[in-house]
Amino acid sequence: MRLEFQEYHTRKIVNVHKHVDGPWFWGKYTAHPYVGCRSGCEFCYCRSGRYLGRRDPETFDRVIGVKVNAVERLQGEIFGLEPEIISVGDWQQPAEDRYQLSRGMLEVVLEVGFPLFIVERSPLLTRDLDLLVEIHRKSWVGVLFSISSLDPALKRAFEPRSPGIKRRLEAMAALAGAGIYVGTSMMPILPFVGDDESQLEALIRATKDHGGQCVLAGGLTMDGVQAERTLEAASRFDPALEDQYRKMYRWPVGGKPKYGPPGAYNARIGLLVRELCAKHGLLDRMPRYAAPGPLEVNKRLAEGLFLKTYELELEQAKDFRVWAYRKAAWTVDELGENILDIYIARGEAGLQELPNVGKGIAAAIARWMEKYIAEDE
Ligand code: SF4
Repeated sequence: MRLEFQEYHTRKIVNVHKHVDGPWFWGKYTAHPYVGCRSGCEFCYCRSGRYLGRRDPETFDRVIGVKVNAVERLQGEIFGLEPEIISVGDWQQPAEDRYQLSRGMLEVVLEVGFPLFIVERSPLLTRDLDLLVEIHRKSWVGVLFSISSLDPALKRAFEPRSPGIKRRLEAMAALAGAGIYVGTSMMPILPFVGDDESQLEALIRATKDHGGQCVLAGGLTMDGVQAERTLEAASRFDPALEDQYRKMYRWPVGGKPKYGPPGAYNARIGLLVRELCAKHGLLDRMPRYAAPGPLEVNKRLAEGLFLKTYELELEQAKDFRVWAYRKAAWTVDELGENILDIYIARGEAGLQELPNVGKGIAAAIARWMEKYIAEDE
């Protein structure tokens, strides 16, 4: 397939998100020098119009937008930002061979000492290992390699042009050997064909064998063109899948699918992955990096509150309970003063004055604080 590069100048490179994406990748910022991807995975959420921003989403893997001033823009924007995790991904593609914008951006990240998270399908990430090691020395680097399944038939059907899985695992081992936090982003898990226990366990075991420390599981989402292409790929792989996917996503012919699998399915897979990770000595969440300083305690506490939202989702708790913890996590995470000082000065009453912190969550925070104080003594 012939690739076309469309060069342009961007006015902005860093997306500043309203909240960190806990309890997943913990990023506050994202930045992407290229738009489109030659790998052209059928299930890639970037195919949908709202991410791609193109009239013709079918050009996703043929026409690659190149933000030629990405490095200069990053230099201009990053100095005004709080040092939080910058989250990037799938940078290593043919455009990088020609433009080296990702490498230039890594140099900027190193210069400012921001922590960095990468989710990547390409083993070519190892060509930037020197910079990753330097960034990790200065702050922190976490890398999750995206692998849905070890099954080569599934890879051929759903991501035929992405790099080989064995090479991704070898790259994981190389990064782990250099002291970088690595693991697997098991996303998307393909319902009915990539979600049985033996497949999940094989990937978790492979992650462990290649120095990985965590495996994060995520379901297949369905949206617009991406949904149509995923369904076509699934039907080509096994014609029976079309009906199964239509049922799972409540997707009538001529209608629209639900965005994600049912909560009960996600909870069942999440609990199974948790159990299998524990069996092999891995985590099913990536620990959050928090920079040392007066607000570190807030970040740690917010991490705990975000993790609680995941627990509740696995328990299939009512939405209002999940949202209560999520909003409290945002409050604590974005608080400008040390929450421990508030608690020491005014106790639970002081916590309850914070937005989105009711009596029950204030009591839970107070228990966490007491433990934190005791461990610190
Ligand atoms: S490699 Fe990543 S960005 Fe590229 S098509 Fe596949 S999922 Fe999308």
